[in-house]
Amino acid sequence: MSTLPVFYSPKYLYTAITSDTTTKAAAVAASLVAKPIPNVEVREPSRAITESEIALVHSPEYANAIATGSNKALADSNGLCDWTPDFASSRLWATGGVRDAVLEALHTRSNAGSMSSGLHHARFDHGTGYCTINGLAIGARLALQEGAKRVLIVDLDAHGGGGTASLIAGIPGIEQIDVSVSSYDGYVGTPQCNYTLVSSASDYLPVVQAVLAQCSDPESIDLVIYNAGVDPHQDCTTGGLRGVTTEMLKERENIVFSWAKTHNIPVAFVFAGGYLGAKLNEEALVQLHRNTIEQAAGY
Ligand SMILES: [Zn+2]
Repeated sequence: MSTLPVFYSPKYLYTAITSDTTTKAAAVAASLVAKPIPNVEVREPSRAITESEIALVHSPEYANAIATGSNKALADSNGLCDWTPDFASSRLWATGGVRDAVLEALHTRSNAGSMSSGLHHARFDHGTGYCTINGLAIGARLALQEGAKRVLIVDLDAHGGGGTASLIAGIPGIEQIDVSVSSYDGYVGTPQCNYTLVSSASDYLPVVQAVLAQCSDPESIDLVIYNAGVDPHQDCTTGGLRGVTTEMLKERENIVFSWAKTHNIPVAFVFAGGYLGAKLNEEALVQLHRNTIEQAAGY
């Protein structure tokens, strides 16, 4: 069995605010040290995302605001916090990890991941919904530049991937499958972006299974970029759907990675949503993200 590289660096973290988006990766990384998953290798990203890579999907004004804080309204538009140089650095490194996971999966034709969050709502010229840089859209564009002909973004975060949908619209070679349990950042589906809003937990896994099964000619897909949010969990106060359990999300990961393996498609995954709260403690949240890593590693 080959090694599963999972990109992470303490440089991803911004701990001056209480936000799982910028802090939870540390707990997952620590858990992998305390309780390793066989064949999983935590790897430092090669470099932060660059301005020219950001400019593949974002406006120059917004790219500059992210990097320098020059335009305060734009720099703070993610809704996470007031811009600081350290905050910017954390987002640039976390998105650099997405790029490295995408290119690693594409070139080795085996799974890879990055402990990154806060990507799929980000728009062309601003952030929103705790998302700053749309690393999913950037990753897909970079994969095309590196020779991929067909990239599928699978977004199973609780919330819609409307930012990604807007950034890939009309670009040949990039598609999205999006199953949400919250209408936030939902959108009207298109042949390019298959969007489904699920409102009953009993429908959740059957819908995930069905939309993957409906995907045409999966053998021709070069890469899946998987936004593996665990916030559909019923104990997540932001996004959770009553009846969606830890076991169901584990089975969801099994469905996604088994489908990809069956069709010989490498998967680059990221963490995305999943939030601590009164009913979801750190151990439980870490376990949810570990389940994604375990399935990606083939267990
Ligand atoms: Zn979410």
